[in-house]
Amino acid sequence: MLRALRFLAILAVLVWLALWLADQPGSVILNWRGYRLDTSFALMLVAVAVIAIIVALVYRLWINILGLPSRIIRSRREKRRRRGYLALTRGMVAVAAGDPDDASRQVKRAEGLLGEPPLTMLLSAQAAQLTDDETAAGKHFSAMLDNPETEFLGLRGLLNQAMKRDDWREALKLARRAYRVRPKSRWVASTLFDMLTRAGHWAEAEATLTESVKHHLVGQADGHGRQAALKFQRSLEAREQGNDAEAVKCASQAHDMDPGFIPAAVIKARSLVDSGKMRKAASLIELAWQLQPHPDFVHVYWAAKGANDAAQKFKATQHLAGLKPDHPESCIAVAAAALEARMWDKAREYLQPMVASGGSVRACRLMAELEESEHGDPARGREWLMRASHADPNPAWVCNHCGNAVAEWSALCGKCGNFDSFAWRAPAHIVSLASEEAEMPAALTARANE
Ligand SMILES: [Zn+2]
Repeated sequence: MLRALRFLAILAVLVWLALWLADQPGSVILNWRGYRLDTSFALMLVAVAVIAIIVALVYRLWINILGLPSRIIRSRREKRRRRGYLALTRGMVAVAAGDPDDASRQVKRAEGLLGEPPLTMLLSAQAAQLTDDETAAGKHFSAMLDNPETEFLGLRGLLNQAMKRDDWREALKLARRAYRVRPKSRWVASTLFDMLTRAGHWAEAEATLTESVKHHLVGQADGHGRQAALKFQRSLEAREQGNDAEAVKCASQAHDMDPGFIPAAVIKARSLVDSGKMRKAASLIELAWQLQPHPDFVHVYWAAKGANDAAQKFKATQHLAGLKPDHPESCIAVAAAALEARMWDKAREYLQPMVASGGSVRACRLMAELEESEHGDPARGREWLMRASHADPNPAWVCNHCGNAVAEWSALCGKCGNFDSFAWRAPAHIVSLASEEAEMPAALTARANE
């Protein structure tokens, strides 16, 4: 609309100009080297306009002719690039489809057309891997290390190769380098952390974890849990080396990071008892019991409460169990303490509901002990021991990854090598039958074997 209006306006001005010129024709006389041109001013103006237009057109044509060769070269180059990228794309599709022949054919085409090795190197390596030619793939990955743009991709390829052939020393070296190149990559940070823990480089693992938390690659809560596990592992090592002060310090730090971490709470409470801080030790255990009851807490709690005889121990245990009254650990702890105090009715009161709903190995064994101690009836005791062999397994430290069940917590699972994978819970039935004795926590094994 606006354009049409503008065109009409220009047309109107031109018509007005033409009419005005027609009204005032005037005359122009040109004398040049004996030639004479005698015309009207309007006609001369038209002639000048026509000449100007022709000159402009000729000039444009000339410029176009001059730029033709470079345009042809540019268009050919563009065509090559397009074909190169097409070959690259087809190569990627061939790799994804697992077609090694087509993949290497397309890689060669892309290499020839693009002439940009960084772009095709990864594809070449992947094509080589499709034919199980790890040596050739390794060469391509190594070549990628020279270029800052492709260094990380090369490292990742080499790292995966090293992990595949179980060369953990080389894998750790590559993971460290990849981490230096990209410390904010979640994959690299977690792979490096995993390798450092497997190799027992606890201090470096701790530093990596701290950075990962800082870069938001690991959540705060998860980070604290793992930091606590690392600190506690250092505590275990210090104890092994006879450095008890350092062991207690590390365990105490682990407890501060994660108050629900059972082994650290036990050691910290024990050290508080040893230094005469009984009330502090007792309240630490009480808090830990509320988070997650565990049989190892019972003995420390007795010491913190100054419970020396069976009656005092029963009273202390009842108080502790009262903080989480419905938990099976609470019932087992009170029942065991009642048995020691020869309070048969109390023991039965806590055990009966447990065995009524199937019961665990521990509950059945304590029932056997109760029957023998109260009635002096070995036959009924044996009956309960028979039931124990079919009962639910006792809780143990069970690996969340492979189900491996052990009596003592450790930072790494001895079976699958995963870090901080143990949780205190009932293992699968079959595992418990294989290592029933080993799973019994120390305090209860002693009782069951009495
Ligand atoms: Zn495991």
